[in-house]
Amino acid sequence: MCWCRDCQYIASGSATVNVLFPEAAFRCAGDIGTLRMTADSGNTVERGFCRQCGSQIYSRTTEPAGTQPIRIRAGTLDNPGLRAPDAYIWTDSAPAWAPFDPALPRYRRGPGSARKE
Ligand SMILES: [Zn+2]
Repeated sequence: MCWCRDCQYIASGSATVNVLFPEAAFRCAGDIGTLRMTADSGNTVERGFCRQCGSQIYSRTTEPAGTQPIRIRAGTLDNPGLRAPDAYIWTDSAPAWAPFDPALPRYRRGPGSARKE
């Protein structure tokens, strides 16, 4: 689950829930729009969304390329319960009320961030 500020905008104030896959295993069909932006990490990220309903579908790091798996928004999967969350990232950006499962690891920032602390 990602608590970066961009994900909070996307998820209406909460974290996004993402399932990670190797990019080569991902196919997406349909009317998909894309946005490229600099993420909180400093990396360049492409976000894919449905042009019909606006739902966020994926996020992938384009620069540096090939460094991270693609992040599929769990709610868009045919089986959104495919995998339970197993970590929180960007917890420094989370609001004080953010619910955290104490059994899961928390990371103050994201893995592979171009911007270091
Ligand atoms: Zn995020």
